Amino acid sequence: MAILLPGGAGYIGSHTAIELLNSGKEIVIIDNYSNSKPEVLESIKKITGKDFKSYNIDYRNRKELEKVFEENNIEAVLNFAGYKAVGESVQKPLEYYDNNIIGALILLETMRKYNVKKFIFSSSATVYGDPETIPITENCKTGGTTNPYGTTKLYIEQILKDTYASDNTWDICILRYFNPVGAHESGLIGEEPQGIPNNLMPYIVRVAAGILPQLSIFGDDYNTPDGTGVRDYIHVVDLAKGHVLALQKLEKENQGLYIYNLGTGKGYSVLDMVKTFEKATNQKVPYKITQRRPGDIASCYADPQKAKQELGWEANKTLEDMCRDSWEYIKKNQTK
Ligand code: NAD
Ligand code: UDP
Repeated sequence: MAILLPGGAGYIGSHTAIELLNSGKEIVIIDNYSNSKPEVLESIKKITGKDFKSYNIDYRNRKELEKVFEENNIEAVLNFAGYKAVGESVQKPLEYYDNNIIGALILLETMRKYNVKKFIFSSSATVYGDPETIPITENCKTGGTTNPYGTTKLYIEQILKDTYASDNTWDICILRYFNPVGAHESGLIGEEPQGIPNNLMPYIVRVAAGILPQLSIFGDDYNTPDGTGVRDYIHVVDLAKGHVLALQKLEKENQGLYIYNLGTGKGYSVLDMVKTFEKATNQKVPYKITQRRPGDIASCYADPQKAKQELGWEANKTLEDMCRDSWEYIKKNQTK
């Protein structure tokens, strides 16, 4: 029996692949490498000392996807495939709806055809829009997404709820990630944004490495302790471990739809991030304060109690770990 990982060569999928292999699971990865490189597969094998099958296919290709289900004894699917750049989604909404939503539909239809009904979905805190209360619990209102990327997450969550309502032999887990950062401690895999990064941590590491001249801090007049935006940064390895526990939950409970926030429960400001990064890595991060970024909210952090109580999951790595591991990854991979 194997776990299928569409998008398993990407940032979160590759870290989860390692945790699944380390927990004794067999995996199969499918990826079209639109936002990753096939070499990642070799790194996963090197880190774990384990082998696995992979397919270079688009998960929207029904015929090729069916072949994967024919050739392997798939017991569950963890879907990481899709596009994830917020800004790009505003420019290319049709591409985002196609890859994320049509892809999810084809995947779910194929699963149903082969009677594979355990599914874990990579959702995002973005489904809460501008949260009414923080820390955010899973019961907080969803909706009010401000870009097509966020809306694809919201729609797919609804598709999953409707699918479960129509047939409760499905076992579905929606994981709402907060802000994944960091890299595997080996320095062999990490985040590889294309072009100039939009997200804070990849930007900070590039400034520290001298690839970009300085960080722009988007606004210091928010209603937060130091005026800069507050987020819940979570180490990608902690996040990956959450998937292994979510899978165990689906295996144990057999039938249900579950939703969990995966965050640390702690909010850090942009200035906290800069200071912690400088201390953890002994590098300088020059910055200037600029205008707010349109669509940004002041504060967003999780109440992670539900995942702790029901999955036995909690994030262990500190903000220093996240900064150091992100830095180690760029140092190693700049010189490759
Ligand atoms: P990523 O881009 O690194 O990984 C996605 C992988 O899917 C890539 O390897 C890409 O090549 C592959 N892919 C894309 N379209 C495909 C297709 N049509 N067929 C086959 N493979 C395809 O992204 P990530 O950061 O690992 O994110 C994984 C999931 O988690 C995504 O759904 C993302 O929206 C979600 N998520 C990410 C974050 C974050 O900050 N990284 C936050 C919340 C949610
Ligand atoms: N941010 C910033 N400069 C950057 C990138 C991000 O000041 O170059 C801020 C942003 O305004 C937010 C925080 O850092 O307050 C996290 O932004 P990111 O894009 O990483 O995550 P998201 O806003 O999607 O939660």
